[in-house]
Amino acid sequence: MKIDIVTIFPAMFEQPLAAGVLGRAIERGTLDVKVRDLRDFTTDRHRVVDDVPYGGGPGMVLKPDPIFRALDTIEAERGAPLTVVMMSPQGRRFTQAEAQRLSGLAHVVLLCGRYEGIDERVRDLVATEELSIGDFVVSGGETPALLVIDAVSRLVPGVVGDQESVEQDSFAQGILDHPHYTRPAEFAGRRVPDVLLSGHHAEVRKWRTAEALRRTQERRPDLIDERRRTESKETKQ
Ligand code: SAH
Repeated sequence: MKIDIVTIFPAMFEQPLAAGVLGRAIERGTLDVKVRDLRDFTTDRHRVVDDVPYGGGPGMVLKPDPIFRALDTIEAERGAPLTVVMMSPQGRRFTQAEAQRLSGLAHVVLLCGRYEGIDERVRDLVATEELSIGDFVVSGGETPALLVIDAVSRLVPGVVGDQESVEQDSFAQGILDHPHYTRPAEFAGRRVPDVLLSGHHAEVRKWRTAEALRRTQERRPDLIDERRRTESKETKQ
């Protein structure tokens, strides 16, 4: 999978993309991630990427022309058609289902806003979608983009070594994950549930499913309702 990131802070991606499963996937070439410095696509001596908002008011706005040039370069290097995602608190909410959808694409471009945001003509003319990581505002699209890249990459086959672990993660099956324990068997007066020490795989599976459902019901009953709705839709089809 190819991912291009357009940002005025390329350094913010260096360490997160070098660590852990993501770092290894990029090293192996399973993921091909390119971070593009928006200032490289300016034409003036001062490499200006922002300007004052028309109509007045506080803050600055990212200019459209460097972003258009960045996209032209990406398209020339990597080919079209592009999925161009604008990171924005006004976008559709990013969820595991969205991550699943994006993980099936061959090439995704992420645009990171700053200041008051990006000139509206980028949204109108080149962004194919807008994604939000939640109902709050952060100062730039870089951390949101990193979250999206991480969640999406985990679902690309070959990125996480053990695919089974991804399938059991929270939200993958529409419910939360079961509890996890490691050694020692007793810690601070708390014992690991006996069934996990029993070596009885079928019983372990049953316990994990029951625990996953129980904690989903307790913490996120909305997920259980959602699952019921999709299940009844599936049986009707
Ligand atoms: N004035 C804008 C917010 C600008 S924040 C508004 O109120 O809608 C600056 C940039 O940070 C945005 O352009 C976007 O790229 C990023 N950003 C902030 N919050 C975000 C969120 N919840 N999800 C995704 N991106 C976000």
